[in-house]
Amino acid sequence: MTDVLSREAIETRLPDPVSAEPAGRHRTQGVRIGEGPGAVMVGGGAPIVVQSMTNTDTADVESTVAQVAALAQAGSELVRITVDRDEAAAAVPHIRDKLARMGVAVPLVGDFHYIGHKLLADHPACAEALAKYRINPGNVGFKDKRDKQFSAIVELAAEHNKAVRIGANWGSLDQELLTHLMDLNASSDRPIDARAVMREALVRSALTSAQRAEDIGLPKNRIVISAKVSAVQDLIACYRMLAQRSDYALHLGLTEAGMGSKGIVASAAALGVLLQDGIGDTIRVSLTPEPGGDRTQEVRVAQEILQTMGFRTFVPLVAACPGCGRTTSTVFQELARDIQGHIRERMPIWRAQYPGVEALNVAVMGCIVNGPGESKHADIGISLPGTGETPAAPVFIDGKKAMTLRGEGIAEEFTRIVDDYVVQRFGGGKTDAAAE
Ligand code: SF4
Repeated sequence: MTDVLSREAIETRLPDPVSAEPAGRHRTQGVRIGEGPGAVMVGGGAPIVVQSMTNTDTADVESTVAQVAALAQAGSELVRITVDRDEAAAAVPHIRDKLARMGVAVPLVGDFHYIGHKLLADHPACAEALAKYRINPGNVGFKDKRDKQFSAIVELAAEHNKAVRIGANWGSLDQELLTHLMDLNASSDRPIDARAVMREALVRSALTSAQRAEDIGLPKNRIVISAKVSAVQDLIACYRMLAQRSDYALHLGLTEAGMGSKGIVASAAALGVLLQDGIGDTIRVSLTPEPGGDRTQEVRVAQEILQTMGFRTFVPLVAACPGCGRTTSTVFQELARDIQGHIRERMPIWRAQYPGVEALNVAVMGCIVNGPGESKHADIGISLPGTGETPAAPVFIDGKKAMTLRGEGIAEEFTRIVDDYVVQRFGGGKTDAAAE
């Protein structure tokens, strides 16, 4: 029966709290990827790793180096590049060298399809420069060649001491396995839904391939698996099955998420549910960029998913109200945008000089209805004047009203207050100029 509290009960006792905690993390084997300063641990209880993928032609060394560096600068802790032909494989060691000279240590993952075994064997410098190889059991080769080619890649990974991601994908599902399971289902006296058979095929493809890699000699702490699907509910089901049946480190991502808000919403919905279940050791958000758009958006979205759910902190976030009929000017929208931009721009320096600054939170509110209250919950908050209100903007620091800004230069003044706060709270009194 629903426990409806009477007025009297409300006044005399608080209800039992409802837990807002995520499920405990699904325990997986830890996989170290890369060596030296850029090395990351995926799984084994390590913080959930953000990764991304380039969309440049890998044979174009300059463009690929520039994009890998941009993705790493945005916070990608692993970057995957396509290795689809000899020219691309030959370029990989040069890309690695150039990045090293720029001080970019992010581990590179090679994405192989169909001829990975040949490219890795013919280009040992490529095999060495990569930290991890990604192979898809659905297109590693066909019929009797498949096992031979799969074994060849896994043996090369073991020889070079590299990690492997076995990435099954709905769009390139092992057709032999699917046909076998469909036949089995058809002859069963309790057949299951065809979509459930497909999910089973995808999960089995990842798990049996991972087991085969272990049998060939790749240790479990060198194997990451994934089973990517483009439909949210299928993805959630597949990863729950993977987590129930194995302790391989899990790469999480909704494949072909799409463009703009659709891609962001679908990824956040799917990943959010699984992360809350404790499932997932590394995430990638597969957004389709606008033509000429910024590839680093997928990194920011991945970070924001993890940060808004409380799993990691990357960059101070600005809370802002949505605005309503009380905000007829764009002043507060501009301030919210400018402050978020300013913080992102300063972060490379702040991160190095002011430990803990990632946890800073700032609020920019549009009027006095919720403005002062919300601002008090932030480290620094400003409540701008709404329509018809006195043209004054109270600023709250650590929950207390610290000052009131007026006039034309409110944005500049507030930015300076945020900068000063960072120096005072996280810098032990150092000035920002000295930090640079
Ligand atoms: S804080 Fe004010 S301006 Fe912002 S949504 Fe609420 S009522 Fe509207």
